[in-house]
Amino acid sequence: MMSDWEVVIGLEIHAQLNTRSKIFSGASTRFGAEPNSQACAIDLGFPGVLPAVNQAVYPKAVAFGLGIGASISHVSAFDRKNYFYPDLPKGYQITQMDRPIVVGGSVEIPLEDGTSREIRITRAHLEEDAGKSLHEDFHGSSGIDLNRAGTPLLEIVSEPDLRSASEAVAYARYIHQLIRYLDVSDGEMAEGSMRCDANVSLRRVGSSELGTRTETKNVNSFRFLERAIDHEISRQRGILESGGVIRQETRLYDPDRDETRPMRSKETAMDYRYFPEPDLLPVEIDDAFIEAVRNSMPELPREKAARFEAQYSIAAADARTLSTDPLLADYFESVAALCGDPAMSVNWVRVELLARLRRDGIEVPALPVSPEQLGALLKRIKDQTISGKVAKDILDALWRGETASVDDYIKIHSLTQVSDASSLEPLVDRIIAGNPKQAEQYRAGKTKLLGFFVGQVMKESGGKANPQQVNEIVRSRLG
Ligand code: ADP
Ligand code: MG
Repeated sequence: MMSDWEVVIGLEIHAQLNTRSKIFSGASTRFGAEPNSQACAIDLGFPGVLPAVNQAVYPKAVAFGLGIGASISHVSAFDRKNYFYPDLPKGYQITQMDRPIVVGGSVEIPLEDGTSREIRITRAHLEEDAGKSLHEDFHGSSGIDLNRAGTPLLEIVSEPDLRSASEAVAYARYIHQLIRYLDVSDGEMAEGSMRCDANVSLRRVGSSELGTRTETKNVNSFRFLERAIDHEISRQRGILESGGVIRQETRLYDPDRDETRPMRSKETAMDYRYFPEPDLLPVEIDDAFIEAVRNSMPELPREKAARFEAQYSIAAADARTLSTDPLLADYFESVAALCGDPAMSVNWVRVELLARLRRDGIEVPALPVSPEQLGALLKRIKDQTISGKVAKDILDALWRGETASVDDYIKIHSLTQVSDASSLEPLVDRIIAGNPKQAEQYRAGKTKLLGFFVGQVMKESGGKANPQQVNEIVRSRLG
């Protein structure tokens, strides 16, 4: 049944710009302050106040536009979007309707099968955030926190080019990565710094017309985004297959119940009565400004991945994984420089560190092991002081904060690798003597058993024997 329908998705992503003050006032944008302690007369829309644009928003919006290959409008303009809601004290939101600052562009998103797809971006415009309604702690009523009112937002609107929930998540992840790389936004989704509205519709496979869509608002985690979209796809498919029609409406995703429910329909849709903001002049941006921003842009994820692949001779997939986060990429480069072995560094950062991050549910900035520590650890594997197995144990000790110094830990726990033949030979002989059947089979040609003997010796030595050395000794003893 699924194959009868094609899924069509367009995302609107709101990213809070990480400026210190608000877009039209000097109030702080710091997250987590006492409610209503960071809302000034302008944010509250008092009569007679005038907004003035925070100049810090322009280079960020322009950097984003350049990062997606968009055109930057030489003239953009602010408009008023009028509606009444308790968290919007002015009664209107200042946004950009007809003349957004960023037009067009596209991003290339990696897909699960290793290929990638181009997703076109319609536009990105500047606007102000609204306040927040608080429902907990208020019995039978709602509280309003206006600290967020006036926080600068970049709304990034995609074309309806996405074809599944997982593609939508890959796209949202890419945008998240880009805004963090460009220092446009901190991207802290748990704090609402990036929120997604998902427009979803279905159409018959082969049809070129778009179906009626619903818009699920304010989804603030990748997991919820995937679930909200999948949920909406099956809800719409159920309706369409039983002969019904989709109502164009705005829906809310409730993560607790894993369902979306209607908020307002097209019939009750608001007429925003947009008109040009009379208190602000159009924004003019010249080529010199655009070039200055271009020259100060950091290396982007795709460029970084390409450089890693060439400079360190590592696999494309590894280079991509390491470039997903700018901090992780820097970390890898430091470790590679410290231990002088990029291939080994890839393995330890990509496999060992990422697995531990996932296991403990922590993010890259909170990594408990420094690049200097990991670099020192890998150096000791390279100069054969310790085996890889022991190194993993030491990494765990560093991770738990049991030690700060790799070399001290090796000394205190006498973990130095045993490489001299005179101490390894008796150990090998003992293992061979203890496993006569396997020894006989080996001599009869079952050389696959080499690994068995090496494994036994390694175990017996508490992981301290030099595996290469053991390999050679076992082979010569049984040969
Ligand atoms: P609005 O003015 O209501 O915000 P837009 O036309 O600007 O609507 O579209 C908003 C978002 O919805 C865009 O990301 C767009 O790609 C997406 N979209 C529009 N039509 C559809 C559709 N039929 N199915 C899925 N997504 C759609
Ligand atoms: Mg919309």
